[in-house]
Amino acid sequence: MSLLGMAFTNLKNLFTGPATRLYPSIKRAPFARTRGSIQIDIDACIFCGMCQRKCPTQALVVNRQDKSWEIDVLRCIMCRYCVEVCPKKCLIQDNFYHPPTRGKVIRKYAQAAKANPQTGTQGRSADPTDASSQDAGEKPTE
Ligand code: SF4
Ligand code: SF4
Repeated sequence: MSLLGMAFTNLKNLFTGPATRLYPSIKRAPFARTRGSIQIDIDACIFCGMCQRKCPTQALVVNRQDKSWEIDVLRCIMCRYCVEVCPKKCLIQDNFYHPPTRGKVIRKYAQAAKANPQTGTQGRSADPTDASSQDAGEKPTE
């Protein structure tokens, strides 16, 4: 770069704003097509296990007996295979990254059993412990 070019660049930098943000106090909004965390509509899941079989990092565990679905968040590489393969389209990928963490993050969802039309009894409901741990810290804090 010539001296003139360097002088021009320096002058330009003097009169334009900084090229970086003061992260974490200033955060950029995620792009619409950013591949972020996997979310599930647990009520639509049929526990077929297709997502678990296709997951290349074994981040998913589907338990048909328990009617539960869980994701080891930090194992997920956001490849989207599970979303593509789900026959019920109950998996979606949002555009938020999981915030930094020191430990394992397991999000577990359990389907509440539907009322039995023959006996009129209500089955097991979603595990409140699991539900409370689902989205802790999932969305970036503003
Ligand atoms: S592929 Fe879809 S319907 Fe099948 S277990 Fe996974 S989330 Fe549920
Ligand atoms: S996005 Fe990829 S790595 Fe993450 S849970 Fe789905 S299949 Fe597994």
